[in-house]
Amino acid sequence: MVLHAGSLGDGAGYRNGGQKILLVEDSRMFSAVLSHRFETELGLAVTHCSSLKALNEVLENGDRGFTMAVIDLNLPDAAHGEALDVAVAHNIPTIVFTASFDIATRNRIMVRRVVDYVLKDSEFALDNLVSAVQRAIANRATRVLVVDDLPSARKMLTDLLLAQQYKVAEASTGVEALAMIDQFDDIEVVVTDYNMPDMNGHELTRRIRHCHGSDRMRIIGVSSSNDRLLSATFLKAGASDFIYRPYVPEELQCRIALNVETLTQLKQLRAAAASDYLTGLYNRRYFYDHGPKLVNECLRQQRPGSVAILDIDHFKNLNDTYGHEIGDQVLKAVAGRLQSLFEGTGNLLSRLGGEEFAILFTEMNSRAATALCDEVRLSLASLKVHADDEELSVTVSIGVAEIGGYESFDNYLNAADQFLYMAKHNGRNQVYSDYKMTEQAAE
Ligand code: GH3
Ligand code: MG
Ligand code: MG
Repeated sequence: MVLHAGSLGDGAGYRNGGQKILLVEDSRMFSAVLSHRFETELGLAVTHCSSLKALNEVLENGDRGFTMAVIDLNLPDAAHGEALDVAVAHNIPTIVFTASFDIATRNRIMVRRVVDYVLKDSEFALDNLVSAVQRAIANRATRVLVVDDLPSARKMLTDLLLAQQYKVAEASTGVEALAMIDQFDDIEVVVTDYNMPDMNGHELTRRIRHCHGSDRMRIIGVSSSNDRLLSATFLKAGASDFIYRPYVPEELQCRIALNVETLTQLKQLRAAAASDYLTGLYNRRYFYDHGPKLVNECLRQQRPGSVAILDIDHFKNLNDTYGHEIGDQVLKAVAGRLQSLFEGTGNLLSRLGGEEFAILFTEMNSRAATALCDEVRLSLASLKVHADDEELSVTVSIGVAEIGGYESFDNYLNAADQFLYMAKHNGRNQVYSDYKMTEQAAE
């Protein structure tokens, strides 16, 4: 097993909390637009050089820690890609941005192990370049597993992936590959050979697919076989893509990038489906999807657990008096305060809908959850929302029910809802729970 951290080159450094990019480009128009877009869209700090001389000065002055460089091949004092050689010599991962392009230029660029090259050939050139930089930075968080029994074939692929900034893991057999997938939960793409001694690529693909769907892990088959059926059988076994050897590096790069992009889009869709549009909290769907799993874990590990429903008091009045938009602002402020109170605690917070929120406590019995909810109630009551020229504040009522015995998830929520009803009925701005009831009965 081999693990590579990704080729950071000189670029592991940060400045002002942001990463630095070196832009070597003599066109004023391109420089101005790119500097602006790198800064605003990607949050990068840009160092711009318009000539080879300026580039050498920057690097000789000891300015280091560039995440990446974007380099124009034709500069007034370096017409043949000399700036690229300087960046490569300084181990700075580089994207070439060029107007002149032919096969000789392409070959010269590729042997220098650049991250990518982007042509100034259309009105989309700038968009393409910004995307290329963004992709290369994102690649640093993506691990690719290379599976091949032949060390030379593995090395060729690994070098290519490292140049593109991916984190890479290597396995020489199918069994080793499955062990690595178990061990590293950040593997998102598997590139596998077909012919291997312990199992072939189809078998490996089928075994991976047994536990990992194509919505979370992409598998790309590779083979030097001349059996033209191989690609179809790979895809039927569950692979996401296939490529014959010898491959053109750019084709493999594009196929991997497309597969990673698909995963990113799916991740974004999942996040959107789980989040509440107004407040950004988890929504009802997510709460009802994940809540039961957390409850089952609590019960299985015999840990205490509780569920709370929180409802803003007289919210309709606030809406009627100040309007829906101010109502929305108050909802956002309440959600923000709740978020800051529960962030990183392992408890599940969500907006159930309207002015109603739910919290699942995964380590607390009714007594502890009741005490915490009382703090939450006080914290929210002290929250001030500035609307027009006024300072608004709200109170909340909370119902808490303990989790115990194997009841349905709905039952726990119904119990919490009944305690919430009692809190409202008894004058609002208070917490009600099974613990509170027992305590009151004892008084
Ligand atoms: P109680 O103290 O008994 O909870 O009274 P309430 O007025 O808070 O409760 P009620 O359920 O009668 O009213 C809730 C109001 O919340 C009614 C609805 O118009 C408003 N509401 C629901 N969703 C939203 C929203 O997304 N934005 C805004 N501004 N208002 C919302
Ligand atoms: Mg209410
Ligand atoms: Mg309500």
